[in-house]
Amino acid sequence: MKLLLIEDELALSEALSSLLRAAGYAVDAVALLRHADAAIQVSRYDALLLDLYLPDGDGLSWLRRWRAAGHTEPVIILTARDQVSDRIAGLQGGADDYVVKPFDVQELQARLGAVLRRAQGAASSWLQVGALALDLQGHRVCVGTQQIELTAKEWAVLEKLATRPGQIVNKEALDQALYSFDDLVGSNTLEVYISRIRKKIGKERVQTIRGLGYRLVIEKTP
Ligand code: CA
Repeated sequence: MKLLLIEDELALSEALSSLLRAAGYAVDAVALLRHADAAIQVSRYDALLLDLYLPDGDGLSWLRRWRAAGHTEPVIILTARDQVSDRIAGLQGGADDYVVKPFDVQELQARLGAVLRRAQGAASSWLQVGALALDLQGHRVCVGTQQIELTAKEWAVLEKLATRPGQIVNKEALDQALYSFDDLVGSNTLEVYISRIRKKIGKERVQTIRGLGYRLVIEKTP
C-alpha cells in the first residue's frame, strides 16, 4: 500500500512517515501542494494524508479541485482545525475521514485501514492466492495455517506481486515498491528481497520470468 503524505510540518511529517513505513506502508512525503500534484503525475497512491494549511495554498480547495478532476483515492485530512464546521467542510470537500492534531498514530492507522478497506470495496481485507493468504490491512501473510513474518520491504514486494497473481509483474514496478522506502536501491536489491521472500513462503511460489519480471504462482489448492 502506497501513501502520499502532504504535510509541511517537518518533524511531524518525518515521524509519521517512519511510523507508517514501520507498519509496512510505502510513503512519499511532500510539503507543498504543487509537489503533491507532481507526485500524483508519476505515482499511483492507495490513499492520501492531507494537511489543510500548506505554504502554497489551502488543502481543502486543492482537495475540491482534485476530486472535481475525477480522482477517487481515499483522503484523510490531518489538521489542527477542530471546529465542527471545518470537519463538515472537509467531508463535503471530498475527504473520507478527518483526524485532528495532535492525534494518536494508532487511531490514524485504524482510520487509514478503514478507508482503504472501503476503497477496495471489501468487507474482508484478506487476499487469497492459492495456499497463501495475505492480510492487506494487517500486513501479515499465512501459508496454509502457518503465519509468516515479513519485514516491511518484503511485504511491499510480495503485496505488489499479489495484486496481480499469476501475471508477470515487471522489475520496475517492484523496484518502485522498494524505492518508496527512501534507501538507495541497488541493481540487485530486488533479487535480495525476492530470495528472502522465497525462503519464507516457498521457493516455488515466486517464479522468475527472465528479462521480464516475477510472477506469484497460483497453485491449485488441494
Ligand atoms: Ca501546515
